[in-house]
Formats: sequence, C-alpha cells, structure tokens
Amino acid sequence: MIEGKSCGDCTLCCKLLPLEEKNKPKDVWCKECTPSNGCNIYDERPQACIDFDCMWLTYSLPEFMNPKKSKVVLSAGHERIFAYTDNPRVMVDIIKSDGRVGRFLNQMIEEVQTPLILINKNEVRTINPKQKKFINLNLPD
Ligand code: SF4
Ligand code: SF4
Repeated sequence: MIEGKSCGDCTLCCKLLPLEEKNKPKDVWCKECTPSNGCNIYDERPQACIDFDCMWLTYSLPEFMNPKKSKVVLSAGHERIFAYTDNPRVMVDIIKSDGRVGRFLNQMIEEVQTPLILINKNEVRTINPKQKKFINLNLPD
C-alpha cells in the first residue's frame, strides 16, 4: 500500500464485488458492511477481502480516481485490469472515452498494453488496447 493512502470513507468494493465466502453476489452490499463507514468484522474478514488488490491503495492514481469519487473500483491481476462500477454513465464514459475517468482509463491501458475488463450490473466488456474494439461477454447469473 502506498504510504498515506487509505480507504477513508469508501466502502465501494464491499458492494460491487462478489464474495463467495459470504455468499454475496456482486452489486449488493455485504451484510457485514456499514456503507461509508467500513467492515464490521474487519479483524475476521475473509481472506478474499484481505487479498483484494485495490489499485487506489497500491498505485499513484489521480485524486478523481478515488473509488468514492469515480464510482470505479480498479484491480489488476492475471495481466488484466478490472474496473467495477454500478454507474451506467461511467461505463459509457469509459467506452466512449468522453469524460476524464474514461480518458484516464483508456490512456492507462494504452500505456501498459493491458486489456481492461469493465464489469457492471448487467454486462461485462473487454477493451483491448491493441485491437481497439469492444467484445461483449455474457454474464453468468
Ligand atoms: S474500493 Fe478500494 S478504497 Fe474503496 S473500500 Fe475498497 S479497497 Fe478501500
Ligand atoms: S466481509 Fe467486510 S471487507 Fe469483506 S466485503 Fe464484507 S464488509 Fe467488505
């Protein structure tokens, strides 16, 4: 974690990400979470929560990419960058690259040449920096 970085009053990953250990689907608040406050079982939270690699905490991202502000939770792994959001406007922004969040993410994947997996409530899309095209994937239930 970068020194000085913290979750603050962000709890967005506790809503957007699925959590098998708690039988929690994505886009539903974890029952252990008090939104904007934190995890009520922090010291006993599941290993998946401990291991979650939030890019806001581990990379030098601009202030507007704070998940609480951007409504996007970013995580890198398996040579992919994952972007979770529940805000349809952010999804459009990223895909069209017509807002600062979208411009930032498109520039980032260009620089690191890594596909971006966009995940929201109803769809998953991959933006491939080389092919510059979007691929629709079917979401599992
Ligand atoms: S999304 Fe990142 S900053 Fe927000 S609560 Fe989760 S780990 Fe913390
Ligand atoms: S167990 Fe705690 S850290 Fe994990 S998703 Fe639930 S509220 Fe968040």
